[in-house]
This record gives sequence, structure tokens and C-alpha cells, in this order.
Amino acid sequence: MLASLTVPIQMPALVIKLEPGYKQHTVADGRSRVIVGMSVTAANSSEHDSAVGVIDKAVRSLKTIPEAVCADAAYASGNNRASFDERGIRLVSPPPKARTYTGDKYFTVEEFVYDEIGDVFTCPAGEILKYIGRVKDRPNQRRYAGLRRVCRKCKLKDKCTKSDRRQLKVGVNHAALILFQAESRTESFKKLYRSRAPVIEGVFAEAKEWHGLRRAWRRGMAKMQQQCLLIAAVINYKRLATHTNGCYRVLSALKTAIGYLFWHFSSHLWNENRPSPQINRI
Ligand code: SF4
Repeated sequence: MLASLTVPIQMPALVIKLEPGYKQHTVADGRSRVIVGMSVTAANSSEHDSAVGVIDKAVRSLKTIPEAVCADAAYASGNNRASFDERGIRLVSPPPKARTYTGDKYFTVEEFVYDEIGDVFTCPAGEILKYIGRVKDRPNQRRYAGLRRVCRKCKLKDKCTKSDRRQLKVGVNHAALILFQAESRTESFKKLYRSRAPVIEGVFAEAKEWHGLRRAWRRGMAKMQQQCLLIAAVINYKRLATHTNGCYRVLSALKTAIGYLFWHFSSHLWNENRPSPQINRI
């Protein structure tokens, strides 16, 4: 199970207009609810870009490949679906519905049929839109367009575009996105996706309510990572204690380990915040 949580930093109430924050991406095992992977990014970064990295890290540390990864809709994209396919992992994350900048006024990309072999789209009027190049500053996006002389005379133009010709912007893995959308309508996909929320949202609720993940304790990515790792360790120790039926020796070992982690964390912070010694130059 993969999901993200945005953690704002503690700010005085008067200056909450531009609030810095961090995003924690967490991977938890579906059965045991043990946290098996995590990464922290800036709050304004996209989930799309973090999914593959955090799962790869979890796979490397577990030395096993999961059958499926259930993630919230923010992680759904054609690129992620293609990357998970390459790794032999099923991505269960509902792809977003296609939209245009004009709401429901014009045809969305879903109303154009994509031919992967010919790399062309067929529009609702039966005309062909060809590849015309990448989107500027977005190497992962491709542009397709119809012919001006055809679009100008088209009877469906009022529902398609107000420009001379219709253009489409799609991801480089648009074919994977179409497969993903078809798969998201199957019963097995929906069933797996329903199992996601109780696990991962429960882990987040536990971390926020009982272990202080509601707010960042310190500024800075490294300090936020330390906070997240510390909280994840405490949650996993609790799972371990439950699995060992509260055995006295295990509990006492856990208490020592958690104490050590807190000591290590606070001494590290203290060293970082300590002012550097003055050097007197003569
Ligand atoms: S305006 Fe162009 S792209 Fe749109 S339906 Fe008509 S011919 Fe097709």
C-alpha cells in the first residue's frame, strides 16, 4: 500500500499564507501493516515522480517483489503504470478522468481513439491527428494535431476547439494509460483498491494522532526525514511487540532501542543547531 501525507511545519497563526511543508510517501505491508518503505519530498512535488523510487527502495530492502501495489489516485499515470509493468508489479491506483481546460465544453482526449502502432489519434469526426513534437519544457509529453484545412470545415468544431485546429497533449506512455483506465473498471481492481484505505490511512492516523506526525518538528529535509524514520521505527516496534504477544524480553529490548533512537535524534539535532566556534583572525 502506498500513499502520501503532507506534513506542514509548525507556524505561528498570523503567517499561514505561505506555509512550507513536506510530503511523506509511505509503503506499508497490506497484511501486517508494517512500514516497509518511505521517502520525504517537498510538499509541492508531484506524487507521480516519487512512486517508482520509493517502491524500488522497498523492494531492495525486502529482497522480494510484491504482486501488487495499491496507491491513491495521485500516483496514477501512464508513466508509472509502464514502469511498474517493467518491474512485474501490478499498480492499483485509479487513473484520473481526462479533462480539458474548458471543463465539459470540448471533447476530452478520451473521445479520441489512439492507434499505438501508427502513433496517431482518430478524432470523433474520423480525421487523423498526427504527432507534431514534444511539449516545450516537458519532455514526457507529446503533442498531436489535426490539419487546419480539415478542422476549419468540420461540423463538430464547436465541440472540439476554438483554434484553427485541435491539438492533444498526452504522456509518452499514453497506451499504458489507456490499458490502465480499462483495467480500473474491472472488479478485481476495485476490490484490491478498496483494501488500501483501511491499511495506509490507519498507519497515517496512528502516526499523526499518537506519534507527532501532524507537524514537522524542525525545518529542513534531513530533519524531516529523521522525524519520519523515527516515527516509522516506533510504529514497527509496536507491531513487533504485538506479534510477540508482549514477551517481556522483547518489550524491554524495544524500550531500549526506542530510547536510543530518541537520544540519537535529539543529540544529532543539538549538534546541528550548535553555533560554529568563532575563529579569531589576526
Ligand atoms: S475539429 Fe478537427 S479534430 Fe475536432 S472533430 Fe473536427 S476534424 Fe476532428
